[in-house]
Amino acid sequence: MLKGSGFFLALSFAVPAVCQQIDWSKVNDQAMRNYQSLVQIDSTTTEVGVAAFVKKTLEAEGIAVSIVAQDPAHPNVIARIKGNGSKKPLLIMGHSDTVKVDPTKWTFPPFSAARNGGYVYGRGTLDDKSNLFAAMMTMVLLKRTNASMDRDVILVSEAGEEGNSRVGIGYLVAGHFPEIEAEACLAEGGGVIRRGGVARYATIQTMEKRPAGAKLVAQGPSGHGSRPTRQNAIAHLGQAVAKVAFWDPPMRFNDTTRTYFEKLAQVSDPEDAQRLKDLFDPEKSAAAREWLAVHEPGTYSMLHTSISPNIIQGGFQSNVAPSEATATLDIRALPDEDMPAFYDLMRKVIDDPQVEVVPNAGRGRPAGVPISITSDTYKAIEAAFQKVYGVMALPLMGTGATDMSQLRPRGVQCYGVGAARDDEDILKGFGAHSDQERMPEDSVAKHLAFFWNAVTTIAGAKFQ
Ligand SMILES: [Zn+2]
Repeated sequence: MLKGSGFFLALSFAVPAVCQQIDWSKVNDQAMRNYQSLVQIDSTTTEVGVAAFVKKTLEAEGIAVSIVAQDPAHPNVIARIKGNGSKKPLLIMGHSDTVKVDPTKWTFPPFSAARNGGYVYGRGTLDDKSNLFAAMMTMVLLKRTNASMDRDVILVSEAGEEGNSRVGIGYLVAGHFPEIEAEACLAEGGGVIRRGGVARYATIQTMEKRPAGAKLVAQGPSGHGSRPTRQNAIAHLGQAVAKVAFWDPPMRFNDTTRTYFEKLAQVSDPEDAQRLKDLFDPEKSAAAREWLAVHEPGTYSMLHTSISPNIIQGGFQSNVAPSEATATLDIRALPDEDMPAFYDLMRKVIDDPQVEVVPNAGRGRPAGVPISITSDTYKAIEAAFQKVYGVMALPLMGTGATDMSQLRPRGVQCYGVGAARDDEDILKGFGAHSDQERMPEDSVAKHLAFFWNAVTTIAGAKFQ
């Protein structure tokens, strides 16, 4: 999939000693085949097929592989290529499971990995078989080139990321940590944003919001539906839900988000750039936030702890006023949020003695630990994006949670990366977790180039 010389030059600039040894056109053909093979294995309910494929591919190169599983249907794969041990290992991860599919929604079958019009179609093309194939091929190339490195590079193909991390990262951290312990890791969560088919900027996920939650419980007198009261539980719940859902919680920046918004302004059109700058201006910030709330909810969510009412329950018969109604809120907290204080603030916003705010226990993800945006690892990733795509990288606070949240509290400096994808595809329904999913075809070769570039730099790889 090597097209044009720009990519080759970019790569040869990064790792000049290797270009004589690696036939990139052959490697990229193999990379595409492996990527398609991974997508063609349905891993919506079990990761057995993917684990077997990764094992077979690595063992064919003479790389030792171990499979560890809490549940045999959800195996994890671990492989290691040794360095000289002068630095602590680098971990490269991809998750082998995907979310489910509704096959009737797909133009090309979800496990076809069909190539059409410059895209590869299939569940997992973005999330996360793109990272998994790139990590796997990087291991293959490190072995083939017999790279001498300052540190071990460890690959993990992890199971159960999509809502079942107990059998994946949870199990690995609890039961196999010495085998995956590393100074740094690369995993999902960032990537390159294309607009109009052109790479605009890259993101490196360095922290993420923490899933919290709460229920709103409204009480009122039960009674006959023909004699409505001003204390109706559903009416009070409805008001409270609307108040918190349309509330603009206090905005707060951290190192990552401040840098993100400043750099995003640099790569944005003038009007968008001005709006981003307005966020920092007390006079104009509220209007800028409201614009983002309406037009760019993902960006707006990075500004504060967010609240989304997602389940509402109350009543059982049309002529009976119920005595209780509840709403379940998905709250995504800033990593350093003081949650008891935040819940108190919500109570003030709701300002209704009939409605109680009941905090949930967490959903099993540890509190966020921010990662350095000035480390050598960060700089190597930033440089790799620049070399391969010619774009600036922005540190990103993810609004969703990833498996990195389990590793960071154990001292692993995790950075979320990813392949290039079309920004427009999110609204067209081709994004991660959408009805359909696709990745630009040339992202396959470029993502491998990026991964190779970043990993060899971080590992201090040298070649004869
Ligand atoms: Zn994922």
